[in-house]
Amino acid sequence: MTRTHILGFPRIGAQRELKFALEAHWRGDTDAAALEAVGAGLRARHWALQREAGLDFVTVGDFAFYDQVLNHIQLLGCEPARFGFGTGQTDLARAFAMARGVAPAAAPTCCGHAGAAAAPAAAAPHALEMTKWFDTNYHYLVPEFGPATAFDHASSARLFDEVAEAQALGHPVKAVLLGPLSFLWLGKEKQAGFDRLSLLDALLPVYERVLGRLKAQGVEWVQIDEPILGLDLPEPWRQSFERSYWQLARNAPRLLLATYFSPLAENLRLACQLPVAGLHVDAVRAPEELTGVADWLPAHKVLSVGIVDGRNIWRTDLDDALARLRPVAGKHRGELWLAPSCSLLHVPFGLQAEPQLDAELRSWLAFACEKLGEVQLLRRALAGDASAGPALAEARAAIASRRASPRVRRPEVAQRLARRMAGDDRRAAPFAHRQAAQQRRFALPPLPTTTIGSFPQTAAIRAQRAAHRRGALPAEAYARAMREEIDRVVKAQEALGLDVLVHGEPERNDMVEYFGEQLDGYAFTANGWVQSYGSRCVKPPLIYGDVARPTAMTVEWTAYAQRLTPLPMKGMLTGPVTMLQWAFVRDDQPRQQTCEQIAWALRDEVLDLERAGIGMIQIDEPALREGLPLRRAGWKAYLDWAGRAFRLCASGVRDDTQIHTHMCYAEFNDILPEIAALDADVITIETSRSDMELLRGFGGERGLRYPNEIGPGVYDIHSPRVPPVAEMVRLLRKAAAVVPAGHLWVNPDCGLKTRGWAETEAALANMVAAARQMREEL
Ligand code: GLN
Ligand code: ZN
Repeated sequence: MTRTHILGFPRIGAQRELKFALEAHWRGDTDAAALEAVGAGLRARHWALQREAGLDFVTVGDFAFYDQVLNHIQLLGCEPARFGFGTGQTDLARAFAMARGVAPAAAPTCCGHAGAAAAPAAAAPHALEMTKWFDTNYHYLVPEFGPATAFDHASSARLFDEVAEAQALGHPVKAVLLGPLSFLWLGKEKQAGFDRLSLLDALLPVYERVLGRLKAQGVEWVQIDEPILGLDLPEPWRQSFERSYWQLARNAPRLLLATYFSPLAENLRLACQLPVAGLHVDAVRAPEELTGVADWLPAHKVLSVGIVDGRNIWRTDLDDALARLRPVAGKHRGELWLAPSCSLLHVPFGLQAEPQLDAELRSWLAFACEKLGEVQLLRRALAGDASAGPALAEARAAIASRRASPRVRRPEVAQRLARRMAGDDRRAAPFAHRQAAQQRRFALPPLPTTTIGSFPQTAAIRAQRAAHRRGALPAEAYARAMREEIDRVVKAQEALGLDVLVHGEPERNDMVEYFGEQLDGYAFTANGWVQSYGSRCVKPPLIYGDVARPTAMTVEWTAYAQRLTPLPMKGMLTGPVTMLQWAFVRDDQPRQQTCEQIAWALRDEVLDLERAGIGMIQIDEPALREGLPLRRAGWKAYLDWAGRAFRLCASGVRDDTQIHTHMCYAEFNDILPEIAALDADVITIETSRSDMELLRGFGGERGLRYPNEIGPGVYDIHSPRVPPVAEMVRLLRKAAAVVPAGHLWVNPDCGLKTRGWAETEAALANMVAAARQMREEL
């Protein structure tokens, strides 16, 4: 018997209903009951979809108003004491207080409306830290652990209520939990020297109680997610699995241990042998392990094969999937389940919301709803059900059309990649030589000041762009409005006394979308939203074909801006790795090949900018680090091709053209040699929030001193706060202690597009003053 299920479903809703309900509630427009009703409605609809598709279970516990890890903090009763919650607050209000750093609303008053915030925002404890969920673009809230952390099984009934809700609707339920080891792993110690693994003994009894309660509710299966089995785990963590699961299995429903995102590798046998009733493996990310799992998994266990890609939007090649499933079905004596590789949280809801996509491209895609159908179709085909024939034939035709389409393969792009020459990713001269040439050309003062690219995206700019898109503002009028904005940005920078200017990026909706829209091989959805965190969603572009650049993308704007000023104007591009990382990428060729195609297209843009007289060109790569594979074994290969792609873009220019790059959001010290190997003339990085700690490695702490010029961010652009001059001087002194004066730049942490003009001008004025003061000290 083969059964079908999913690991989780996108909770945001077909039309982002959850986002809008959350934001209305946070604004105070709706009460908690109204929000709860939206949540219940979404769950009911999503369960119904799973049943209508023919899946054997509905998955319960994947819903969250804000984040599933936050739900576990409440389920397991370990809300950090620093929030000082009393008994008067609902679990929803407490969840939002932890997620957003706002004071929790008081319990509902008699008229049913949430009371006003109990304390002014300034007094509210800061929110839980947020970080990326494995290698996805989803962000979870980080549990805080310390010696005083306690757990409590009776803290939140939400999961059990949702189970009862699904049962009342008549659904067979599989509940889902994040496993105890992954939960601890994903948290963070709040006290030096404390080891969060030491909390395991206190945590396990709480899991036992949770599982016991699910069993008492009549839940037959619980999917327990331990994605950390796909990571390089320290030995004590690995060794904790066996005893933990012996303890949990004592009085639990049947447990399906779910792993995903990464090969199990040295943990494969461990995962197969844990005392659970079944194992889910990601056969998309680790297809090569499927046979090994089928060999090692005892016959009495369920093998759940994640065969449909939960991380990408392509229609599954069902023939290929069947060819991989059949030997496994033959080998594994126990029950076989079919599923997507991981939760469908990471793909958009459904194709029904994309009527504007052309029929051909649409036929190549499968979003969450379509993936439900694919899993079910695979089950029928595997069972030899003849009625699956027509659907299989349709799928086969779509796959064949994608393979043969001239939109996908462009010979001129392949030829370009094949023409690779030794040295095409190296600047002609070494850095010291280029630096001298650039100094002669630009004659900048020591500690030159600049910004990262964007200036405030005002409501007026956004309104003009929206009008232009709607067709209500003709192209010429729109261009005029953008040029006026550039005038304003250039004048403001000159008045502030900045040394290297930018045009401000008013014409860009988003740093990836702007370029994707102008490149061949990219497509955009109308409604392909994916949750990033809380109510925030992103709409990644799709890269479906060979990437080429029909015409210049930024030259007109940048050259216009340069004509307004004698000061150097930096051209501004998004780098190839970030273009790749923040998109749904084609799966019919290696990622690195797609990245290299983007790199060649961007190289042409760089050369066009140079030809137009732009002497400094910044290639942003904020996503470089997040592309790192989950396991260290894959780091080198990734860094090699990612580095080559960056250098391909940057290396065609003259010695006296200055290449900048910019990175943010992350810790870069552990890949410092590879960042240095990008050989950008100047790098600007986010450092102010870490009080310049991030810069330590750049100063040679780990043996390698960053060889080129650096602009460590001297102020945090995430907040409207205007940092005083003295504060930036203090940071600059710290920076000057590790970076030679001739290499040091002065700039904010990142772009200013989310800021208002008033605070931007005030902060930049202070920044320029700080740089001038530091120059005196040199
Ligand atoms: N140039 C971009 C900007 O200033 C960089 C954004 C980023 O690094 N995320 O907005
Ligand atoms: Zn940035």
